Amino acid sequence: MPNSLITHAARIRLTAWYLIIIALISISFSYVIYRSVIGDLQRGFAVAEYRVQSQIGYSSVKQEALEMLASEFELVRHAIMLRLLLINAGIIAVAGVSGYFLSGKTFAPIEAMIDEQKRFVADASHELRTPLTALKTEIEVAIRSKKITVREARALLKSNLEEVDKIQSLANHLLALSRYENNQVRDRFKKVALSALIDKAVTKLIPLARSKNIIIKKELAELELIGDEVSLEELLTILIDNAVKYSLEGSSINIKTLKVKREAKIVIQDFGVGIKSSDMPYIFNRFYRADTSRSKLAVDGHGLGLSIAKKITDLHNGTIEVKSAPGKGSTFSVTLPLK
Ligand code: ADP
Repeated sequence: MPNSLITHAARIRLTAWYLIIIALISISFSYVIYRSVIGDLQRGFAVAEYRVQSQIGYSSVKQEALEMLASEFELVRHAIMLRLLLINAGIIAVAGVSGYFLSGKTFAPIEAMIDEQKRFVADASHELRTPLTALKTEIEVAIRSKKITVREARALLKSNLEEVDKIQSLANHLLALSRYENNQVRDRFKKVALSALIDKAVTKLIPLARSKNIIIKKELAELELIGDEVSLEELLTILIDNAVKYSLEGSSINIKTLKVKREAKIVIQDFGVGIKSSDMPYIFNRFYRADTSRSKLAVDGHGLGLSIAKKITDLHNGTIEVKSAPGKGSTFSVTLPLK
């Protein structure tokens, strides 16, 4: 069943609840008002009746006056009842329309969240399907071949392992995303030295940088932050890893940290393929990957790194910005509050 149908039914149900509550309140108030007004009227008419009775004169004239009083009383009672009924009908109609409108407002973010979740599951399944299909095809071809040499079998296993690595990396990224969505890291905030974190992240990426003859230059200030060490290291690793991945052979990367007012600024600059301005608004979206097929690079990835980086920065009340020019390189700047 499409979302809108589910939420439409729920919206009608919520409107009905709003209506029942408002109708109950309005009808009970009207009943109380009706009882007290009629009570006052009855007392007034009783006094008038008493006055007519106590006057000297013919009883037929008195009788006529009493009948007139009684019919006047009935008229007033009916008029009050009709007015209260109309007021109640008006209140219920207004409550119905505004209840439907308000329930729409209540469900709009829920509907957006359901859509987002669905898109996420569809994208994640799509990302999983590609390496799984490759893995399956390779294995099927190998099984069908009559004579397979040890060398060929090794090559096949190596290629299988690459696909398994891709699946593992996707699973790790998905887990990281869900961990940061749940705000779990805030409980682990403590004092952390920024330069030590950068050193750790760089050390992990040196083998990849070496394989592309890329030099990583550092210019680090001694700064301390309050944050979660593990996730901050992950943030730096994502940004430096991207800088290496999207740089051509033999280029360099500059990492700089500085104090700006009460914040630490981390600048990661590369001289790689850069990002087109048309891709810029989307690079922090989950699963978004810019097309790098025109450049000489073939880079593996799932388009999750920058969305995780953004989430980590948000959790630390920081900001992340990027400046880039295609063919010239990119500069990612992260600002995080100092301790
Ligand atoms: P992935 O790198 O796995 O594709 P990311 O979320 O880390 O996913 O990045 C999203 C996209 O942003 C990348 O596909 C790439 O096109 C672009 N991008 C990120 N960092 C850089 C960079 N340093 N240089 C050029 N492009 C980049």
